[in-house]
Amino acid sequence: MSDRIRIKITPRDFEYDVYTLVKAFFPEGDVAVYKDEEAQDPEDDIIRVELGDSSLRVEYGRVIEESFEKNDRTLVKNLLKQSIYKILSEKTGTDLPWGTLTGIRPVRIPLSMMEEGVSDGQIRDKLKSTYYISDKKLDLAMNVAKLESRILSGFDYRSGYSLYVGIPFCPSICLYCSFSSQLADKADLDGYLDGLERELTAMGSMVSGPPDSLYIGGGTPTVLSPEQLDRLFSMTEKYFDLDGTREFTVEAGRPDTIDPDKLSVIKEHGATRISINPQTMNQTTLDLIGRHHRVEDILKSFEMARSQGFDNINMDLIVGLPGEGREEVARTMEEILKLSPESITVHSLAVKRAARLNLFKDKYREMGMVGNEEIMDMVSGYTSKAGMNPYYLYRQKNMVGNLENVGFAKPGYESLYNVLIMEEKQTIIACGAGSSTKRVWLDGKRIERIINPKDIKTYLAGIEDITEKKRNLLEA
Ligand code: SF4
Repeated sequence: MSDRIRIKITPRDFEYDVYTLVKAFFPEGDVAVYKDEEAQDPEDDIIRVELGDSSLRVEYGRVIEESFEKNDRTLVKNLLKQSIYKILSEKTGTDLPWGTLTGIRPVRIPLSMMEEGVSDGQIRDKLKSTYYISDKKLDLAMNVAKLESRILSGFDYRSGYSLYVGIPFCPSICLYCSFSSQLADKADLDGYLDGLERELTAMGSMVSGPPDSLYIGGGTPTVLSPEQLDRLFSMTEKYFDLDGTREFTVEAGRPDTIDPDKLSVIKEHGATRISINPQTMNQTTLDLIGRHHRVEDILKSFEMARSQGFDNINMDLIVGLPGEGREEVARTMEEILKLSPESITVHSLAVKRAARLNLFKDKYREMGMVGNEEIMDMVSGYTSKAGMNPYYLYRQKNMVGNLENVGFAKPGYESLYNVLIMEEKQTIIACGAGSSTKRVWLDGKRIERIINPKDIKTYLAGIEDITEKKRNLLEA
């Protein structure tokens, strides 16, 4: 097999679906779809797809032909992906844990089927026979969908909204950061809060009633001083009615930004959930990935939060960090679980967008897919022993080992915001540079987004224009 894999689709359709599936089989390969005008290289390894009105044909070493009576796009897409999957799985001797599902929300299918009253048995059959999901991922998706459906039951989330406020600044930039966060000590944080206030004022006037959930994220919101935090929360309370908000999360992500004064401001303003994110409990890795804090800082800030009465603390960690294998992740899990947080969110590292991480490409090749799946299984084992269940999950493009990010929580401590945003169940009003406002129509099928500029200057200069666009979106 050549390193250059090219896909030729005639006529050009389903390109992105085909590309992502092929790329999942060849994560390191140079995979692309031929453009019409592009010349073929004699060295290219070509996957040929021909789409007709009532049949399709895939050729790559062997040929699979399928015919269909009705030209239904979903049916054709599924048949096409199944054909490609069969050929590539045979050729590479690999099965993908999520089968032909390449989207970032694999739980959406079982969740909507549950909402339509389809039985568990039928959902499982469909996921297996249509998407070729592995038994392990099938169990995971079903368990998450059931828990999400319970979390969403009992309130009218469709006609409500949630609010996100972003503070895209951090004390240092992590090697793997894909959020375009900026260094806090070089930023005019008060100037940013001035702009944010203009946006909050405008957005607050477009809604009535409290958001179901409020999420202050980043970046690292706790880079703000206690006074700035107080201002941030006060202005959010001023422009939005928070009386009746079910969940209020503050990301206190980096332990080196937390102190008793900031925690007490967060507590006074009524946050119900905070997130302290170690990512790893191995000092060598922390140093390597550019998080300028010590493992002891994580322990200290966690104890500090507990002593101030925070009874719902999440901790994020990452699987797939450079130099970390099973042993290092096991150590992290053991150290984290000694603290007994209410929830743990486990991310599989998404490599491609984190350009600086490409320095470690060889490390990733060594780790491979199997190793990572074993590590994810081990992490699940630890969380299950700690009484936590998986309650939301999502996938990203280019994740190490083509796996997923999973939130685990003790019963009753699942984050509502995470479920609402991940399953796209509710309109999210988002304020702050780089944040994404999403209008979800009542039927749950139509969704539109407006993303604020990431660049702080552009964001600040364009707030009035952006809020006007968002007004049109929300009033549509
Ligand atoms: S803490 Fe998060 S947002 Fe900040 S630099 Fe690290 S990865 Fe990026």
